[in-house]
Amino acid sequence: MEIRHCSPLGATLLSQTYESLEDAVNEAANQAVRAYCQGTFSVGGVMLDNSGNVLNALHNNVVEDGMTFDPTAHGERQLIDWYYDQISSGALLPPPEEITILTSLDPCCMCSGSILSSGFNVVSAAFDTFSGIDYDTLADFPSLDPALRPVAQATFSYPEVSGDSCFARPATSAPLPAFFSQTVINQNTQALCLSLFEATLSGVQDTVNNDLPPDLLIDPATLAPDDPLVIALRDIYPQALTYKAPSLGTPDAGLAPYLLEAAAIDAERGGKGSSVAFLDYFGNLMLCLPGNQVHSPVQTPFMLTTRSWAQLRHQLYQQEGDRVLQYFGHPKYGTFVLTLGQDTAASSLIDLGAYGSTMEEALPAENPWSLQYVVPSIPQSALTAYCQTLPPLYSQSIGVMPRQVSDRALIDAVTEGLPLTARRGAESLAL
Ligand SMILES: [Zn+2]
Repeated sequence: MEIRHCSPLGATLLSQTYESLEDAVNEAANQAVRAYCQGTFSVGGVMLDNSGNVLNALHNNVVEDGMTFDPTAHGERQLIDWYYDQISSGALLPPPEEITILTSLDPCCMCSGSILSSGFNVVSAAFDTFSGIDYDTLADFPSLDPALRPVAQATFSYPEVSGDSCFARPATSAPLPAFFSQTVINQNTQALCLSLFEATLSGVQDTVNNDLPPDLLIDPATLAPDDPLVIALRDIYPQALTYKAPSLGTPDAGLAPYLLEAAAIDAERGGKGSSVAFLDYFGNLMLCLPGNQVHSPVQTPFMLTTRSWAQLRHQLYQQEGDRVLQYFGHPKYGTFVLTLGQDTAASSLIDLGAYGSTMEEALPAENPWSLQYVVPSIPQSALTAYCQTLPPLYSQSIGVMPRQVSDRALIDAVTEGLPLTARRGAESLAL
């Protein structure tokens, strides 16, 4: 198959081919070094076709300029979105099943959900016993729905690491892609991948959470309509600041029309007919967005909402400075409201993981319910049990635990409106 290379995202090696696993892991480590120097999580990845040709190589971009740029900008997730961007612009790339993402660190929940939703193969160098999908290193994938475990065992490879140190290991899970003629990682390269990541972990988590406490936040509803912050916000979501919940974490039926409108667009764009509203500390509706899964299966409503909020703050901070942080707070002091609740499918793993990557540390005691849904996809008891199987970052450190909104009128209004939403989406797709 002819491969056409198009405008890659980051530093690339388009003429490079890797038949040696060690060489490919070295390139992922090179990317992780760049991430270290940028002050973000030191993780890098390379996307390879079935001949070992490099399609793209890039690194984590969660933090830029000392501030959260995009909590979803992990290497693997960015490579997947890059792939679908290329497909949309007409590039002739192989299907995901014929592509391998080689990463310096085991994928987190968000990235594992993204990989499983898309069908790529993955090769991981270092284990991540804190947030990796193979956190117990046994390749039994306890955080995946039982139906997805054999899929991961057939597509997620953990190659042999040579040597007699604690970094050495046997190969586990899926066999390596066949194009690798050399199939072992040197223990020193493995040590570099792990130690680089560990060197940045707590510092970047602190950066992601380095925000004003809620008592220093100012209600953005007091801003003039022509304030640059309001203009930039409404450029993303024109209806921002036109609804306010009665109090923090308790949206009422007034939110229903916004959720349903975005859910209808989501259905038209290949989603399940869901949407995500972000309400700030004061209850203001800041964003309510659909996904864009017809473009990329990893562009769920939650992914686009948390990314849009972070990038808006990052962009405005460059222009307006500290006042941005006074009016637009960290999402841990607000509430994400999903039209449809999560289940145990790969697309929900993306969202639960992305929520974890948005928080990174324990939820604030004054706001433990920053992830809520209106209409359940599975019973709350099943969702609670599932969240307890997630890797330690999510289940123990953060305590990721969605719950249903408390307002019965909101639940009824959205439930009554949803069949119409789904029908609109189906009609649109049939055209
Ligand atoms: Zn990740």
